[in-house]
Amino acid sequence: MSDLYEKALHTLKEYFGYDDFRPRQKEVIRQVLEKKDTLALMPTGGGKSICYQIPALVFEGCAVVVSPLIALMKDQVDSLKENGIAAAALNSALSNEEAAEVRRAFCKGELKLLYISPERLTFEADHLLPQGNVSMFAIDEAHCISQWGHDFRPEYTQLFRLRENFPGIPMLALTATADAITREDILHQLSIPAENLVQDSFDRKNLSLTVKTNFTKKSKIGEMVDFIKARKNESGIVYCLSRKGTETVAEELNRQGINAQAYHAGMSAEDRSQIQDNFLFDRTKVICATIAFGMGIDKSNIRYVIHYNTPKNMEGYYQEIGRAGRDGLPADTLLFYSDGDIVQLAKFVRESPDENQKNLQLEKLARIQHYATSLVCRRRILLGYFGEIMERDCGNCDICRRPPRRFDGTIIAQKALSAIARTREQENATMIIDILRGSRRSDLIAKGYDQLKTFGVGNGTPAEKWRVYIQQLIHLGCLTMSYTDQKTLRITEFGRQVLFGEKKIELALVTDEMVAPKENRKARDKFDSSASPAKESENRLRLSSKEELEGSDATLFEALRIHRKNLADAARVPPYVIFSDKVLLEIVHRRPTCLTELAEVPGIGSMKLNKYGKEFLDVINEN
Ligand code: ADP
Ligand code: ZN
Repeated sequence: MSDLYEKALHTLKEYFGYDDFRPRQKEVIRQVLEKKDTLALMPTGGGKSICYQIPALVFEGCAVVVSPLIALMKDQVDSLKENGIAAAALNSALSNEEAAEVRRAFCKGELKLLYISPERLTFEADHLLPQGNVSMFAIDEAHCISQWGHDFRPEYTQLFRLRENFPGIPMLALTATADAITREDILHQLSIPAENLVQDSFDRKNLSLTVKTNFTKKSKIGEMVDFIKARKNESGIVYCLSRKGTETVAEELNRQGINAQAYHAGMSAEDRSQIQDNFLFDRTKVICATIAFGMGIDKSNIRYVIHYNTPKNMEGYYQEIGRAGRDGLPADTLLFYSDGDIVQLAKFVRESPDENQKNLQLEKLARIQHYATSLVCRRRILLGYFGEIMERDCGNCDICRRPPRRFDGTIIAQKALSAIARTREQENATMIIDILRGSRRSDLIAKGYDQLKTFGVGNGTPAEKWRVYIQQLIHLGCLTMSYTDQKTLRITEFGRQVLFGEKKIELALVTDEMVAPKENRKARDKFDSSASPAKESENRLRLSSKEELEGSDATLFEALRIHRKNLADAARVPPYVIFSDKVLLEIVHRRPTCLTELAEVPGIGSMKLNKYGKEFLDVINEN
C-alpha cells in the first residue's frame, strides 16, 4: 500500500507538478488505492479531479469517469493531454469515426482515462467496457443521482448497475453538493459504506462575500459598473433571474463600455457554445447568464461572481459563487438582495405543480433571505447551513469588514410597530415607511393615514435605512412578512411586548454603505478598488494577486500572458489549460533562470516543462 502511495506522490509531481496532496485528497486517494468504494465531498476548487486522475495513473488499466457535462469532459481531456496523459471522451459530440477510434484505443489498453456521458453509459457498460481493462469508476457530479438534489439526472439512477456488473472494481463518487439528504442518497444508491465518506471543509477562504440590499434597478447597474471597472481585465459572471434580465443587463453593461455577453437556455446550442468559448478563451470578459451557465466549465480564473437577483436557495448560491477563484487566488462575490425577488421566487414555487416540494422550497427561500439580511458574519451562516460550525468570524465578508455598531433600538422599533398596529396589520413595508416618513402619496391620504399619530415621526431616517431596520425586526422576531404579492407586515407576540415597552431591543446601526439611497448615489463613494475585498483578504490569505504587481513584474506578467495566449490559440485550447494564472504569478515571483528552477514552480509537470519550458525562460530573460 505505502508503495502505491509513494508511486501516487511521484505521479503527482511528474504529471501535475505539485509536491503534495491536500489533506482530504490524501485520504480519498489512500482509500481508492486500497480499492475501497468512496464518496468524496469537496467544495468547487477543492481538487476533486486529482482524486481519481492519480489513482487512474497508478492502477493498471483504464479508469472510467462518468461526467454529465460534455464541455467539462472536453476541458478535462484537453488538460490531461497537455500533461501527457492518454485520455479520451465518449459522448454525443463525437462523429462515428471519432467514437470508433476512442473505442479501439480503449480495447487496446492505450487509455488511462475514459470519460463517458451518463446517456451512453448503460450501453457502453454492456458492450464496450467488458472488452477492456477497467481499473476504477469515478462518478463526477454524483449529486445528480438524487431527486432531492438540484440537478437530478434520471440516467444517473442506472449507475447501480455498474456495481452489479463490475464487482470488485473500486468506485469513487465525487460532488460539491453536500446537504444531508443528497449525501445519504448517493451512499445508498451506489452502496458505498458510510464510513468511506470523506468530507472536506466547504469553506472557500479565498472568496470574499458581500451582500447589498434594497438597491433599485438603476443603482444596481451603477454599483455593478463600478465593481466591474475596478476589475477591468478580469473574467466574471453576472447571474440574473430571467432570460430577459440577462439581455438587458448585458446591453446596459456594453453601453457603459464593458465587454459583456448574455447567455441563457433560450438561445440556440450553437450560440451558447460560441458564447461559452468566447468566455473560456478570454475573448469576452463578462457573461450575464441564467443559472444554465457555468455548470461544467472549469475556467480557473473567474475573479468574481455577481448575483444581480436573489438566488432561490443556498445550495444554488454556493455553487454559483463557487465558480469564482478555482485557482485559489482571491476572488469576490457580490449579491444584490431584494424583497421583490423573494416575492417573485415564492410565486414561482407556489405555481409549481409539485405539492411535496412546495414547503421545502419556501423554507429554502426563507434561508437565503435570512443569509442576505441578517447582520452577522456571512460565512458563519453559509457554512452553518451546510452543517459546518465556524467558531470565529471569517474576516472576509462585508459584515466582518465593517462590523455593525449596535445601539438601543427600542424607540425605532416602537415607531415602526406602532405604525403597523395603527394600520391594523394590513400594509406592507413600503406603505409603513411612507407613513413614518410623512409621504403625501395619494392612496395614503385616501386611507386617512396622514391622520395617524405616527405619521411623519420617522422622517429623519431615509426610506432605505428604514427598510433594513424592518428586516432586522423580522429577524429578531418582532414582525413577520407574508410572501404574497402584498407582503403584509404582522406583529408577533414578542413585537407587542416591545411596542408596549415590556422588552428592550438592540439593533445594528444602518450606515450609508449598507444601503444606496437613490438621492445621493452619485455623491457617494464610488466603488473603491483599493478597499476592495480582494485587496483586503490578500494579506490574511498570504496570497498574491496580479493587481499587486507593479513595474517590471507587471510587464513580465503581461508578456507571459501574451505568450500563453499564443500557445493556447495554436493548440486550440483555453489559455488556463496551458498554465493557470497562479502558475504565471509564481513565475513572476520566482523569476526562474533555468529549467531546473522552472520545474520547481508548483503546477508545472515534466510534460509541460519539456514542451514549453525553454520558450517561457526566453520570455523571462527578455523582460
Ligand atoms: P474541483 O474539481 O474540485 O472543483 P479541480 O480539480 O479543478 O477542483 O482543482 C482546483 C485547482 O486546484 C486546480 O487548479 C488544480 O490544479 C489545483 N490542485 C488540485 N490538487 C492540488 C494539489 N495537491 N496541490 C496544488 N494544487 C492542486
Ligand atoms: Zn465574516
